[in-house]
Amino acid sequence: MKKSVLLKSISAVLLVLVMAVCMISCDKPTEAVSDPTEAATEAPTAEPVTPMEDILAALASLEYGEVKNVILYIGDGMGQSHVPATDAITGGRYKGKLAFESLPNYGIVKTVCTEGEPDSASGGTALSTGYKGKRKQLGLNNKGKVVENVVELAKRLGKSTGVITSESIVDATPAAFSIHAANRNDESKIAKLQIEESVADIIMGGGKAMYDKLFEDEGDYTEYFANNNITYTTKWDDVLAWNGQGRLIATMTDDYWFFDKEMAPTLAEMTSRTIDILSQNEKGFFLMVEGGALDEVAHNANLMELTRHMVAFDEAIEVGLRYAYVNKDTIIIVTADHNTGGLKTKEEADAYIEKHPNENYISNEEWCLTNAKLHCLLEAEKIAQEQNPDVDWSTLPYRFTTIAHTSDDVEVWAIGPGTAELMTTEKLASFHIGKFIGKALSGEEFGSTDAKGIK
Ligand SMILES: [Zn+2]
Repeated sequence: MKKSVLLKSISAVLLVLVMAVCMISCDKPTEAVSDPTEAATEAPTAEPVTPMEDILAALASLEYGEVKNVILYIGDGMGQSHVPATDAITGGRYKGKLAFESLPNYGIVKTVCTEGEPDSASGGTALSTGYKGKRKQLGLNNKGKVVENVVELAKRLGKSTGVITSESIVDATPAAFSIHAANRNDESKIAKLQIEESVADIIMGGGKAMYDKLFEDEGDYTEYFANNNITYTTKWDDVLAWNGQGRLIATMTDDYWFFDKEMAPTLAEMTSRTIDILSQNEKGFFLMVEGGALDEVAHNANLMELTRHMVAFDEAIEVGLRYAYVNKDTIIIVTADHNTGGLKTKEEADAYIEKHPNENYISNEEWCLTNAKLHCLLEAEKIAQEQNPDVDWSTLPYRFTTIAHTSDDVEVWAIGPGTAELMTTEKLASFHIGKFIGKALSGEEFGSTDAKGIK
């Protein structure tokens, strides 16, 4: 037998063998195995799971009914390079991309604040109330006046509501959706207001240490929780066992989940459990899901950890997309409150850093520890490199240019009635998205009434 014929025969035998093995074990779509909806909860029915690729391909042609639910996903600090950097470094999740890149309606969004670069307080307030506000202020307009947020609006309409994050729940974004306060840094007060004044049915994420501080200062609230039908827990098992009666506040890690691999529960599991509970309300629900840890890892210039959290954020969005695919009365919006880290392609970033030598790209740990940590980019990169010894930082295709926030525009992806028109808004800014959500939920104008988002 000629060598080439022999090789062909061996190849043919191997191919048959592989096909036979595959017929036995490969009949299940791989997506079903890694489906976070299934991982987090028991499947309500025995219906076959639609492969995610099919859902993503169908998104652009879904026919929608009247809006009942809105799910808003906020990537904290998710600038325009976060997505391509994640695709380039992780290889993406579906055909080289993240699931939410398949959402049919897309736009560029100006982030807003009346005082320079937005922080998560002004960014979150714009999205939650439809007003342009000041830095540090939560749920207040530019004049410091309390304005209704979309969670309160949804409750007023008889809907159920949830606010969940991979950050501490007293951090600015979840706080902007759950309470009103003048200073985001007063975290003990935010915890107190979340217990005593928030109307959100579910507030879930990290932040145990901040709640412990409140209990230390003001007593443990056991009686208050019992009298007001509030379940407070630090355990995921309690969240899974909760009967859905009254309100739930859960803090499952001291502060935020810095390392994605330490996230238990995952953001996708929290999202899945929350949708299961909120969707029992016939009048519908509003849910805000924040990829909050994204901001923390960008402040640390930790690009590898950032891409892992981006994937975790996308997995949480996938849970919502699966829900919206079946429940075509659900709007899904994915956006960011501001840009953290000024991430650019390596070439652009290197050139930028060389051109701006006066921005204190100082590499000196002592200086960084004794001064404001902002601008210690090189030091942060060094620490990130040490935390990822298998990765050569100099070969990564993207690089941060600061460890502070920037006022660069962010992006928005969406699906559902009216979201195509939202993208045509003149000078689309984040407060327009807050206004849009309010109107989608209520059918009436919501938020500020002037073009600047002030009045
Ligand atoms: Zn930040």
